[in-house]
Amino acid sequence: MKKIAILGSTGSIGTQTVDILPSINAEVVALTTNKRIKLLEEQARLLRPKMVCAYDEQAARALAIALADTDIQVLSGMDGLVACAAASGADIVVTAVVGMIGLLPTLAAIEAGLDIALANKETLVCAGELVMRAARERGVRILPVDSEHSAIFQCMQAAGCNRADKLLLTASGGPFFGKSAAEMRSVTREQALAHPNWSMGAKITIDSATMMNKGLELIEAMWLYDMAPEDIEIVVHRESIVHSAVEFADGSVIAQLGLPDMRLPIQYALTYPQRLPCKTPRMHLTEIAKLTFYAPDEAAFPALMLARRAAAQKGDRGAVLNGANEAAVGLFLQDKIAFGEIAERVAKALDGISYQKNATLDDLLAADKAARALAMA
Ligand code: NAD
Ligand code: MG
Repeated sequence: MKKIAILGSTGSIGTQTVDILPSINAEVVALTTNKRIKLLEEQARLLRPKMVCAYDEQAARALAIALADTDIQVLSGMDGLVACAAASGADIVVTAVVGMIGLLPTLAAIEAGLDIALANKETLVCAGELVMRAARERGVRILPVDSEHSAIFQCMQAAGCNRADKLLLTASGGPFFGKSAAEMRSVTREQALAHPNWSMGAKITIDSATMMNKGLELIEAMWLYDMAPEDIEIVVHRESIVHSAVEFADGSVIAQLGLPDMRLPIQYALTYPQRLPCKTPRMHLTEIAKLTFYAPDEAAFPALMLARRAAAQKGDRGAVLNGANEAAVGLFLQDKIAFGEIAERVAKALDGISYQKNATLDDLLAADKAARALAMA
């Protein structure tokens, strides 16, 4: 039986991971939240992990009281997250926290030799080079949960050991597909949170509206599959049925299709290389009837160009891009800046913070901090 730690078990990916557990042969050894302790307590009583963590100290104190009648260890803060990742006895860690807060626990899990089911793309955007090197050195597998990256992974397996020429990363286009930058400038938080195809956490939903999500995914794919960013094409595909595709040397393109439901890629990351029955509804091509594809509008969605720039430069640029974006999205979610200002603040951070090529972990953490400060100013 596989032992699983779920970091961020109370979020969108976390709860869907809990949802598919009965379909796979697994035991949960750790669960974490920021402060949703009511839900975490329910999950803990159901799954009986060895340890849990609430990142927020006050929430952790309340959680310890709530679970006082159990033998579950209650931890808090970054130490708690790291312990849940690396010292809970897990075989595989689902990284479903949002933001670069997931970086240190992911690195700790890799150091401990544990496989990673990676949802937390910000970790790879910030520190892809370090994380992939650590995983190679420790012989650890990074199994993608993000639907596009799971699709690419599945296409690669279908092709055997042939190297990809090109990745075709599909994007829904989000709620503002077809709008100009001027039309989008002052859209409301509610409009930006209304994603047409996926129900997700607030941060990634805003990232989908700015299309920064696809920019982050481009960087994620670059590191996961060791591809040059110019060999990764972003294709807008409104139906979210083709989850991504890979083109090989002979020009053949292999794609992975399915209804938009994260439980499938989550389950596959946890059961790979096996495929087990999954409770998600089945796709019927005749009901879908039509699939459409468009080139992205980079003038309307400047986040794409900013991410391409960071991808090409590497070094500390991913950390700067991501840190500024996390801060700006936070401000937008608090109604403090306009939608159009998110990308502007990211551009300001990329321009304002001097470039560092061979960045250590400390350099990346410093770049993240500087980017957040600049984006908040
Ligand atoms: P979410 O906001 O729904 O959940 C985030 C989880 O992280 C929650 O459990 C929350 O308690 C925890 N958390 C938040 N801030 C924290 C902090 N400071 N310290 C510790 N824990 C904290 O987010 P989500 O939509 O589930 O996304 C999680 C990750 O998965 C993100 O990196 C996202 O980009 C990625 N992802 C999500 C989806 C999706 O469908 N939701 C798809 C692909 C990738
Ligand atoms: Mg995705």
